[in-house]
Amino acid sequence: MNNEKKLLSWKEAYKLNIRAFLLIYKRYPKMIISRVILAIVIALTPYVGIYFSARIIGELAGARDITRIKELVLATLISAAIISLVRWIIQRWRNTECAGMYYKIEMILNEKLLDMDYIDIDDTKMHDLLSIIRQNSNSGGWGLYRIIGSLDGIIDAFFTILGGIVLTVSLFTTKVPESAGKYTILNNPIFILLVAVVMIIIINISPILTNKAGSYYAYNSDSHNLANRLFGFFGFLGHKKELAADIRMYEQDLICNKYIDMRSGMFLSAGFMAKLAKGPIGLYNAAASAVSVIFTGFVYVFVCLKAWAGAFDIGMVTQYVSSITKVAQGVTSIVWRIGDARNNASFLKQVFEFLDIPNTMYQGSLTVEKRCDRDYEIEFRDVSFKYPRSESYALKDVSMKFKIGERLAVVGPNGSGKTTFIKLLCRLYDPTEGEILLNGIDIRKYNYLDYMSIFSVVFQDYKLFAFKLGENVGAKVDYDKEIAKECLIKAGFGDRLAEMENGTETYLYKGYNKDGVDISGGEAQKIALARTLYKDAPFIVLDEPTAALDPVAEAEVYSKFDEIAGDKTAVYISHRLSSCRFCDTIAVFDNGRVVQKGTHEELVAKENGKYHELWFAQAKYYA
Ligand code: ADP
Repeated sequence: MNNEKKLLSWKEAYKLNIRAFLLIYKRYPKMIISRVILAIVIALTPYVGIYFSARIIGELAGARDITRIKELVLATLISAAIISLVRWIIQRWRNTECAGMYYKIEMILNEKLLDMDYIDIDDTKMHDLLSIIRQNSNSGGWGLYRIIGSLDGIIDAFFTILGGIVLTVSLFTTKVPESAGKYTILNNPIFILLVAVVMIIIINISPILTNKAGSYYAYNSDSHNLANRLFGFFGFLGHKKELAADIRMYEQDLICNKYIDMRSGMFLSAGFMAKLAKGPIGLYNAAASAVSVIFTGFVYVFVCLKAWAGAFDIGMVTQYVSSITKVAQGVTSIVWRIGDARNNASFLKQVFEFLDIPNTMYQGSLTVEKRCDRDYEIEFRDVSFKYPRSESYALKDVSMKFKIGERLAVVGPNGSGKTTFIKLLCRLYDPTEGEILLNGIDIRKYNYLDYMSIFSVVFQDYKLFAFKLGENVGAKVDYDKEIAKECLIKAGFGDRLAEMENGTETYLYKGYNKDGVDISGGEAQKIALARTLYKDAPFIVLDEPTAALDPVAEAEVYSKFDEIAGDKTAVYISHRLSSCRFCDTIAVFDNGRVVQKGTHEELVAKENGKYHELWFAQAKYYA
């Protein structure tokens, strides 16, 4: 077991918890302040009742002055009413400030994801880390989210202890009368000190034992997470409409059950956690409860002895017993919380490992000149590229210039580097060697967003959102309806648009709006193409968004798009050569290199060339 590895030093745990607290506090100060104030009010409220009850009982058992009793009852009622009103007001405020708290915390991770270099988004190690962080948070509540609970707990415990101490000090300072004979030992400072020390020791043993029990959950979080992940994935396959046919056809539920059983092995009665619960976790918890009972007994004996010897009245017995019990609860809670914060520190470390991933991509400051003549020239100069953690080159020595207004086709077998080429063009990655120039200047020197603005790309796995059709086309909420409509018509979506009662305001799919319309794969493609047109960027790139179509349909989409692309520079990517034969230039990729360049006629004529080989290999299926 890697228990020791997971338990960080107190110093490191302290630093991580403080850092996490400040991170949340700086973003959501009102949320934290409202929680702290409410925790203080909740912690101190019981003492008002304890104080007045003690006075009333004391009066009833003592002088029995009816006027005094009336005053005390009235004071109890008024203070209870004021406190509950104040508490209600603060609680409302806290609830408002904390609305959507889980998502607020989740937002910290999401914003980091959005801000991250694309190279890291693509990194499996980063995804593993994020997945572990989310698993730890969802299954055990570990990580950033726990800071909030810890804060509430620590503040509540601190003020509970403080309030309790205020009402308990007199227990130790009030002396029994000299007439009490041998009981006067209760006045001896050494005896009092001894009693206080014993109380402090016993008070601390219980939470230490509880923490020890709790740490078994923290230490085994990796195993829980695996079990939860398996369950989360396999346990819900049956809910997925698109898998229903396969599951029935191949009885895949049987395989899924096997993996779900791994979770049962973890959590059910004969499982690993059950064994721990019956064993060390159970023992530590039982011992913690036993120690609490011993403590309560000890307090009763001490308080009752002093009362018996005449140090105070019966009312004060209730005050002291209740207050000390509260103090004990507070100490138990604070010690447990502190131990828990230490357990949480290793999870926070993972969170910060993620949040601290640096943005290493150089961000230039040059603006891209906005040219009406779209006179932008891009050149790849001896560009080679390796994916992170990859030994081999995905692109090697690629040199190419885009002529303005040209139709360039990038073709080649799967895995030959076509998509990588586009990703470098759009600066999702920087070349490992060589450079890419825009109008003669290295693209790294341009402001990133500015550079991106000259491209409109439909990636292979483009996504549309379950929002309004026009919002998808315009990629914004306040899109221009007329332009969106025009682009949809140009992209061939006109007939379907005419059938839509709400036009571009129609919701797509049913994810966001129950009246949303379902669209076919072909229609989705047209919308994605319309989005490209709406952006009106000088470069448009279609990276096989038509892969699901048959070759004839794909060729139709490409040539139609060619028509509407006008004076823009267009790059078409396909592994189907027939789709791109109309292009001015065809670059043939193979094993990451550009092995041929030319028009369709030139390339097909070169019998020993790759293009010729691919063309005839594919043509035989269409003959
Ligand atoms: P194509 O678009 O021509 O099918 P790609 O550009 O997608 O080819 O891939 C080129 C090479 O790079 C392939 O060998 C592929 O396995 C590899 N590759 C693609 N994406 C990644 C990635 N994210 N990490 C590592 N290797 C990758």
